[in-house]
Amino acid sequence: MRFLPVLSPPLSPPPADRQDAACPAPAAALDPDGDVTASPDAGFVPREKRVYFEVFGCQMNKLDAELMTAVLLEEGYRFTPEVRDAGVVLYNTCAVREQAENRVFSKLGALKPLKRRRPGMVIGVLGCSAQNHREAIFERFPHVGIVCGTGEFLRLPELIARARTEGPVAALDLDFEHTPRFTRTRSFGPSPQQAYVSVMRGCDQACTFCVVPRTRGKEVSRPVREIVDECRALVDSGVVEITLLGQTVNSYGKRLAKGRVIGLQHVLHELNKIPGLQRIRFITSHPRFMTSELIDAMAGLEKVCEYLHLPVQSGSDAVLRRMLRTYTVDRYRRVVEECREKVRGLALATDVIVGFCGETDAEFQETVKLMEEVRFHGAFVFRYSERAGTRAAAEQADDVPDEVKRERNQVLLRLQSRVSTEILRERVGGVEEILVEGPSKLDPSRLTGRNRANQIIVFPGRADEGLAGNLIPVRITEATSLVLVGERVPA
Ligand code: SF4
Repeated sequence: MRFLPVLSPPLSPPPADRQDAACPAPAAALDPDGDVTASPDAGFVPREKRVYFEVFGCQMNKLDAELMTAVLLEEGYRFTPEVRDAGVVLYNTCAVREQAENRVFSKLGALKPLKRRRPGMVIGVLGCSAQNHREAIFERFPHVGIVCGTGEFLRLPELIARARTEGPVAALDLDFEHTPRFTRTRSFGPSPQQAYVSVMRGCDQACTFCVVPRTRGKEVSRPVREIVDECRALVDSGVVEITLLGQTVNSYGKRLAKGRVIGLQHVLHELNKIPGLQRIRFITSHPRFMTSELIDAMAGLEKVCEYLHLPVQSGSDAVLRRMLRTYTVDRYRRVVEECREKVRGLALATDVIVGFCGETDAEFQETVKLMEEVRFHGAFVFRYSERAGTRAAAEQADDVPDEVKRERNQVLLRLQSRVSTEILRERVGGVEEILVEGPSKLDPSRLTGRNRANQIIVFPGRADEGLAGNLIPVRITEATSLVLVGERVPA
């Protein structure tokens, strides 16, 4: 799966038609201890219904956060960007990176004085860290009111109410087979025109560095019909691009039907028929499950984008064995070859971990060699950090010095930056169809969008032109290592 190395910003406010009573209330004033107090006039939302929500980690966490957002909105909660203004503070956590987890822990520590002043405030730790550390979170942070794992977040309104009346409450069941599923009819992100849809939860793999099988349990795939119905409803609400999510999305279908093989390609075929849906993506794929049938579907279905995120993790067979990745470098090469042969214009992204237990310089050089040879369009490079609860933490020594990890990280980042720039430059002069996402965060006189290869394109335009969600042609005029720059051309 793809892990985002950086802290996600707080969720954007709810869609316009749900903002009528959004926080902070219009006539807010500062009370003596500096907290925001809403005046009791129109649009007033009591503090107990105001939620501050921060999300860390991978796309799956963001999707879970969307579902939590929907559940809370339905129960009358509204979101505020200010912790001080909230009656409920929630963190949807990531246990994969030590850094992300430590940030949440330090935020929890910093909330202690506020909780002392406001005993009615409910603080919730949700998601992977909650699942991993369980009730131990209450011991370390006694002011936390909710510890809610990855299988129970749909119970959030009930848990908030119980934490208020009964005190600390934990919800850590991971039995997804019996967890009520939540099918959305509208998307809360990443934009009104783009939606993530989960096709499965959990992971049956046992990569030694990864805490996900412990925090998200065994694989459970959703029936094809349920996914198609959710996607249809999302398209009816204005969504034009759907990204299917799963920890190992291409192993989708296991145990779904006795005596019949169902794979992700079946979902893709069904979604490709939905009128109004323009683009389909899926992340994250495992090299072992990249079948010819799935590659053929990618190649043959016009709505499936030419983008594949296929984490290799290391270019050394010995390291892959220690990671228990269940494929060899040669198998990975063959998969890439078949994908590139069949899917024209394929953009390939990967994840790499440097400094995994026992990684020698020679083993690292094999990764350098593979990256030079494959020439990925993008690579997310991570320094290995030991995670409690993983097999590697229990059985293998985290023995590569930090400075060596940092140096190897830099080597790969430089390599990838050079390759990405070269690949992006090849697109200069061409015209690309891009899906407009909205204004550029860095320059409001420009808009951003993505091409089918998932590359970001920045071009002149204003937010009030109403182009977001449209597919438009853009001529590429320039390339950096991260983005393409373009100009609009007549459709
Ligand atoms: S165990 Fe391996 S395949 Fe499963 S989520 Fe973790 S890294 Fe991905």
